[in-house]
Amino acid sequence: MSRIYNFSAGPSMLPLEVLKKAAEEMTDYRGTGMSVMEMSHRSSVYEGIINEAEADLRKLMNIPENYKVLFLQGGASTQFAAIPLNFMKTGKADYVVTGQWAKKALGEARKYGDAKCIASSEDRTFAYIPEITPDMVSPDADYVHICYNNTIYGTKFPEIPNVGDKMLIADMSSCIMSEPVDVTKFGVIYAGAQKNMAPAGLTVVIVREDLLGYARPETPTMLDYKIMADNGSMYNTPPCYTIYVAGLVYKWALSLGGLEKMKERNEKKAALLYDYLDGSSLFKATADKAFRSMMNVCFVTGDAELDKKFCAEAQQNGMVNLKGHRSVGGMRASIYNAMPYEGVEKLVSFMKKFEAENK
Ligand SMILES: *Cc1c(COP(=O)(O)O)cnc(C)c1O
Repeated sequence: MSRIYNFSAGPSMLPLEVLKKAAEEMTDYRGTGMSVMEMSHRSSVYEGIINEAEADLRKLMNIPENYKVLFLQGGASTQFAAIPLNFMKTGKADYVVTGQWAKKALGEARKYGDAKCIASSEDRTFAYIPEITPDMVSPDADYVHICYNNTIYGTKFPEIPNVGDKMLIADMSSCIMSEPVDVTKFGVIYAGAQKNMAPAGLTVVIVREDLLGYARPETPTMLDYKIMADNGSMYNTPPCYTIYVAGLVYKWALSLGGLEKMKERNEKKAALLYDYLDGSSLFKATADKAFRSMMNVCFVTGDAELDKKFCAEAQQNGMVNLKGHRSVGGMRASIYNAMPYEGVEKLVSFMKKFEAENK
């Protein structure tokens, strides 16, 4: 077996232990004589799988009783529309624009009401997170939407922004489960699973119960969070197999000591890479220091040809998908929970060698 280090922003690496477990259970799930892929989602065996996945995620993220956990489809991008449809009661909402995903969320909300950009970091290609104070928030906004970790630019909110008594909604697609987060500070947290939780096809929505039930009448049934909650995420066929793998990932994270431990591991990996970048005379990290992401590390040489050469040589050395997002160029190393420390070590020693050879 040969595994390489995959620095893709998503879909991304899964823990090897999880892949092995899934392989072991692939053709005969615990004596049922069938794969999880072939099972009725209404069967008691599958009910056990989804219920256990939810229970483990609740444990892992310390999700309070008064929050619903929904296992949905459509990716984070579908939630960009579902959020205004479910929560824009007065027709107004505030958005913080810290990257392309946040901008897309704002664009989608503008189809349904008066969505306002209250702060943006577009002036410097989203290299920082603008400061948010309660007085910036519109008094009549139903919620404030943020993108907690900006996958494309490698920035993250250094802390949960203070939006006064407004409900905060966060896209956490690329940082969910990377460290502990106080769920009670948010009305809604959502994340596409393919970054830090599972294969693609699943979107997790964590929503405070009292916020449900106000969807606009024209909201498509499949986007109505209350209907999804009332049906235990099984109004229709859920992404069964992806939920099963997510469940294995939750168990893996719990077995390693939960999110405190994940944070410790992730800090160690990110520090190794950023410390090298800060001392390098060839490579430069692009995000402002105070807002650096632990999950997506963006960097450049300043020479597009050299960037290209770097990515090609890295690939030859078993480190793939280091090319930055097409909108920004350069390099991006996504080092989610499943990336082992050894992968980052290998990357840094390769970068040192490349630097010496390309002075
Ligand atoms: C990847 C990503 C998205 C888009 O996710 P899809 O599941 O492909 O719709 C949205 N927001 C953030 C922060 C992302 O990283």
